[in-house]
Amino acid sequence: MRTFNCQCGNSLFFHSFKCVNCQRKSGLCPSCLQLTSVNSQGDETDRCGNPECLTPVTQCSNSQPHQICNRFVTQSTPNAAGGLCDYCQLTTVIPDLSIEGNLEKWRRLETAKQRVLYALDLIGMPFRNDPASEARAVQFEFRSDNTAPVATGHNDGCIVININEADSVNREIARVQFGEPQRTLVGHFRHELGHYFWDRLVKFNGQRLQEFQSLFGDYRQLDYGQALNNYYQNGPADNWAANFVSAYSTMHPWEDFAEIFATYLDMWSVLDTAKHFGMVSGGADNFEAMLKRYSEVGIMANELNRDIGLLDLVPEVFTQKVAEKLRFVHRLV
Ligand SMILES: [Zn+2]
Ligand SMILES: [Zn+2]
Ligand SMILES: [Zn+2]
Ligand SMILES: [Zn+2]
Repeated sequence: MRTFNCQCGNSLFFHSFKCVNCQRKSGLCPSCLQLTSVNSQGDETDRCGNPECLTPVTQCSNSQPHQICNRFVTQSTPNAAGGLCDYCQLTTVIPDLSIEGNLEKWRRLETAKQRVLYALDLIGMPFRNDPASEARAVQFEFRSDNTAPVATGHNDGCIVININEADSVNREIARVQFGEPQRTLVGHFRHELGHYFWDRLVKFNGQRLQEFQSLFGDYRQLDYGQALNNYYQNGPADNWAANFVSAYSTMHPWEDFAEIFATYLDMWSVLDTAKHFGMVSGGADNFEAMLKRYSEVGIMANELNRDIGLLDLVPEVFTQKVAEKLRFVHRLV
């Protein structure tokens, strides 16, 4: 993630609610996509502090009392009961806050969701309602399996996350059980959004669908339930890494796409951050250059992580086949 600057010159971070130096309120402006502090004194209307924007803003109602969200609401924010920002409106089920620990889980989930949606906004990917194409906005449900089992997954535009995933101990247990090199909340959002965008951008587009079939395989010849059972009983083939970005990708072409999509967003976000801090140059228009830069940054970041005993930042190996699949996603976005 980039860092931002307050009008007073101090640094602001993506999740800053106020500037620690001058105490101005800060937040994410949906109009200019900058994290800014408000430009107002006394009773004046709060305005985005970006001098090229100055859009009148109020805080999302999830900013208080729990500091869940620092995104601003503007006149162009779709109306919602209670003054929620456009990102918070997409969450239709939140955890039961009367249960101890759930507030913290909800905060972690929204924090991860905000980061991922913000990147989609910067890239320009459509996840809101579109009356022209009748495409529907993505929705999020954060559910607990206290009373009934909850599977994290995507179904018809709705992304369900089991709030257990926001508990780092449970998440690490699952990571080791499933032999995954990483398991994070941002990773879950990116993966499930991959399913959402497959529905929205690939499923009904003849040419893209054909291209998808030739790269990822014919999903119509595989029963999803059977493929799932088969994967959990027999695991992936020994040589999976030649063609797939992760072991789980081998389960079904839909999962392969979701894993590739998540990897593409990882790559985009890491490179955006690296560029902001002057480590790399160049934009996201040339895919080959992006992949080369990501490999270079990845090698360095992995060694930094290993220096202090953390898991690899970029565990994936980008074979030619994996690169072809990533290029397909690059063309979609
Ligand atoms: Zn300041
Ligand atoms: Zn602004
Ligand atoms: Zn909000
Ligand atoms: Zn999936």
